Amino acid sequence: MGCTAADVVAALRLAAAVVQEHRDELVRLDQAIGDGDHGENLRRGFTALLSRLDTEEVSSPGKVLKLVATTLISTVGGAAGPLYGTAFLRASAAVGDLEELDCEAVARALQAALDGVVARGKAVVGDKTMVDALTPAVSAAASVDGAVAAVLSAAADAAFEGAESTVPMVARKGRASYLGERSAGHMDPGARSTALLLRALADAAAK
Ligand code: ADP
Ligand code: MG
Ligand code: MG
Repeated sequence: MGCTAADVVAALRLAAAVVQEHRDELVRLDQAIGDGDHGENLRRGFTALLSRLDTEEVSSPGKVLKLVATTLISTVGGAAGPLYGTAFLRASAAVGDLEELDCEAVARALQAALDGVVARGKAVVGDKTMVDALTPAVSAAASVDGAVAAVLSAAADAAFEGAESTVPMVARKGRASYLGERSAGHMDPGARSTALLLRALADAAAK
């Protein structure tokens, strides 16, 4: 059974709750190597998303993903807003007009999201960014052939490992790169938020 527009909306509501719950943690991570706003940037974006999901009818998974993209682009700001916005916009395009998303569509959407982030931010694995979480997530998703929940769960697990892998890295992209060697020893906030978002989507799909 695939994910309908209503399923995607439910997953995003859970993602918004998780962002709210981890707002302060993401702020602290960003205080260590950036400007301390990542948790608040995302909280603002997902709060705006919740109110749009309450008031706007969205008829397909792709249209929901597009609504996420436009909302995040206009409300999150900083580096993460355009990057997450691009990720959701590419994911939306990748699923097109499908009425329901199966595991193959989800894997394709994740790959498109990563491609969008890389096209926009030009980061590669090892630069200490969200790309370090999203890249292994995409590989894991492509290697699982099962229910959508299993695909997203594998992606989330890989993203958490990827986020952990950013701790010793020296940042080469984004604000953290201004710190040079001093950025080592801290987890990248965007990699952490990517893992948290994927875990929320996986948990919602498992319900
Ligand atoms: P800002 O750095 O503008 O304050 P945020 O704090 O919201 O924006 O987001 C910071 C996160 O954005 C970083 O932790 C990193 O994961 C991500 N990021 C920054 N620059 C890039 C980039 N060029 N490519 C991919 N991700 C990036
Ligand atoms: Mg910041
Ligand atoms: Mg900022």
